[in-house]
Amino acid sequence: MTVRVRALGSGDSFGSGGRFQTCLLVTHARGALLMDCGETSLVAMRRSGVDPATIDAVAITHFHGDHYGGIPALIVQQQFDKRARPLIVAGPPGIESRVRVAFEALYPGSYDTAHRAVQVTYVELGAEARELDGASVTAIAVEHLATTEPHGLRVRVEDRLLAYSGDTRWCPALVELADGADLFVCECYSFDKAIPNHLSHQDLLEHRSELRAKRVVVMHLGPDALAHESELAFEVAHDGEEIAL
Ligand SMILES: [Zn+2]
Ligand SMILES: [Zn+2]
Repeated sequence: MTVRVRALGSGDSFGSGGRFQTCLLVTHARGALLMDCGETSLVAMRRSGVDPATIDAVAITHFHGDHYGGIPALIVQQQFDKRARPLIVAGPPGIESRVRVAFEALYPGSYDTAHRAVQVTYVELGAEARELDGASVTAIAVEHLATTEPHGLRVRVEDRLLAYSGDTRWCPALVELADGADLFVCECYSFDKAIPNHLSHQDLLEHRSELRAKRVVVMHLGPDALAHESELAFEVAHDGEEIAL
C-alpha cells in the first residue's frame, strides 16, 4: 500500500480563510496516523469522510489548542462509539498530563470514564524513535513558545520519510528535520511580516537551499500569507486534499 498524506486541516489557529486547524492524516499499510489534532479536527475528519475509529495513533507537535485541543473530544467520541481497539496518543514530554488538564477544562469529570472505556496509551516523543502502529516517529525541538513544548516530527513509514515542522520560527533544527525527507510539510504563517514564533514565506525563501527535502509543502497560513497565496514559491496544502507522495 502506498503511503498517503491528507491535509484534513491546513489552517492556522484562528480559522483564517475558513480553513480547519492543523490536522494531517497519514495512512499506510499498517495503520493510520494523525499528526496534530486541533480543536476543529473532529469536524475536519467528518468533512473529509474520515471515520475517527480508523485512527490508530495521534502524534502531537506542541501544546497549543489548534494542535492538540481536539484530543479530549476525539477520546470521548470514541467512548460513545464503543471503540474496542486501543488508541495511541503521542506528543512532547507531559502529553498525558496536558491531555488530562484539557479534559478537565472542557469535559469535567470525563477523563477517567473515557479512559476506562477506551484503552489509550500515552507515548512521549523525543530523539529516540518510537513505533506508533507501523510508523516510526522521532521529535526534534523547534523554537516556538517554550511553554508549549514545541517539536517537529520525522515519521518513517514503509519506505517513506515525512517531516512536519509544527509551529516554529526559523531555527537550525528545521534543517535537521527536513534532511532527506520525501515530503516536508512546513508552517508558513505570514508572507513577509515578521511574526514572533512563526515562519514567514520570506524566511523559507532565505533558507530554501538548506531544506534538503524532496518536496516542501506549506500550510498554517495566516491572513497575510493567504492574501499572497498565488505568489508563494512553495506548494500550498488545502483542506481535504491529498498531498501525493
Ligand atoms: Zn498553530
Ligand atoms: Zn503554536
